[in-house]
Amino acid sequence: MMRFAVSDRDLDVASLRRELHNPDHGGFCAFEGWVRHTNEGRDVGGLEYEVYAELAQVEGERIMQEARERFGAIDAVGIHRSGMLRIGEMAVWVGVSSAHRDEAFRACRFIIDQIKHRLPVWKKEHYLEGDTAWVACAHHGEDHDHTHHHRHHRAPAGFVPDYSRQKRLPGVGEAGQEKLARARVLVIGAGGLGSPVLAYLAGAGVGLLGISDDDRIDASNLHRQTLFTAADTGRLKAEVAAERIAAVNPSVRTELFGRIAPDEAVALFRRFDLVVECSDDMSSRFLCSDAATMSGTALILASVHQYEGQLQVIDPRAGGPCLRCLWPAEPAPDAAASCAESGVLGPVPGILGTMQANEALKRLLGLPGQAPDRLLLVDLLDNRTDQLRIDAENGCASRGGCVAMAERAMAARGGDSLERRFSTLGAARAAGYRLVDVRQEDERAAWPMPEAVHVPLPVLLESGAALPAEGPLLLVCASGRRSARGAQHMRDSGRADVFTLPGGLQGLSE
Ligand SMILES: [Zn+2]
Repeated sequence: MMRFAVSDRDLDVASLRRELHNPDHGGFCAFEGWVRHTNEGRDVGGLEYEVYAELAQVEGERIMQEARERFGAIDAVGIHRSGMLRIGEMAVWVGVSSAHRDEAFRACRFIIDQIKHRLPVWKKEHYLEGDTAWVACAHHGEDHDHTHHHRHHRAPAGFVPDYSRQKRLPGVGEAGQEKLARARVLVIGAGGLGSPVLAYLAGAGVGLLGISDDDRIDASNLHRQTLFTAADTGRLKAEVAAERIAAVNPSVRTELFGRIAPDEAVALFRRFDLVVECSDDMSSRFLCSDAATMSGTALILASVHQYEGQLQVIDPRAGGPCLRCLWPAEPAPDAAASCAESGVLGPVPGILGTMQANEALKRLLGLPGQAPDRLLLVDLLDNRTDQLRIDAENGCASRGGCVAMAERAMAARGGDSLERRFSTLGAARAAGYRLVDVRQEDERAAWPMPEAVHVPLPVLLESGAALPAEGPLLLVCASGRRSARGAQHMRDSGRADVFTLPGGLQGLSE
């Protein structure tokens, strides 16, 4: 059983614990968060939790679901209080039971961290001196160490977003607004393209906006990055963008990320309904195209060069072409000049970013949009637009398909790392890896790997010579632990072409 709830009543721990009794389970772990009597040197008399209940419910259920996916057969209950709480009262309760203690501990930690990090909750402290203040909640997630601290800025008390102008449109209405409120969009880059994207998606009431950017605001950005002011120079773009979004629409949640690392991109994309790439960075566009292809998450790409812009919508679930269908290989870093080198007029990224925002909203609403097999070219000197047909047959299709191309590129990004990530064993083989199954004989019956050479880990550790001489080799086990040990052992004994599949068979998508 997995349950999440927001409650305005005192929590009854005994009955919550009873919900988690399970005859198969030997371990139970609970976390309780209590209201403290001081914060930053001030005496606190009580706390008021304002919860955006509907969104919190959806997000809380997602968190519980993710915990089940990560930690397997667990039972868990998570409850967050709303309303007025006194000192010592319980604000959060998370309980997890499982067969073994390790999963219970880790899942409990995961759930509480995610709840702190992702739930739309605002906390008002009532001080003994008689005044109150909305507290800057500094979130820090366990799994995103690069997530920056950020504040929730509040619109005037009682402000309610008014979507009447867009709801009036045919094809939007109350149902469309509901879709936007539940949508999760990741925006990569909060600069010239990202400014209009974030502003319009926030104004439209998109439920969650992820913002990935590790850059700071520079005076030379202000002619095109309209989210920022001169007073913001030197600050992190993602943080300031989150503040502007909160000021425009307090019902929109933001989650901040630094630069996205290749090994986390696919998992991150899976958490979002849509990704909008606004980075002005060629290697980020290729990484996003690969991650979108591997995760199945739709992606809206745009780029500008002087007075020209391009827009492409990648829709992997519809079998549409990817960026590599147009350009199979990523150009060398110096081949593509950035705005810093080639110059840009402010409105050019503004127009392309506005088009990205428009595509994103239409897509979330289920309205017609840019055809996925067309590249839109915009020339903003003579205001001509063109739609270039993307020849998918002569694209990735002639080289093993978009997914194989993406998997190969993603594996190559691993560099010297021991790990090679693939979503299927077929993809690993297509990328040229020979599979080595290091599990025990009895495990192979439940999940056979006929395409792999079988060398159980103890044999491998005893005599690495049992491995095939021809590489590269990808060691595979159930969870990725034994294969990592085996690969490290082989590296230590001087063989360089041995890799491990992180997450093992359990981490595969098939
Ligand atoms: Zn492709």
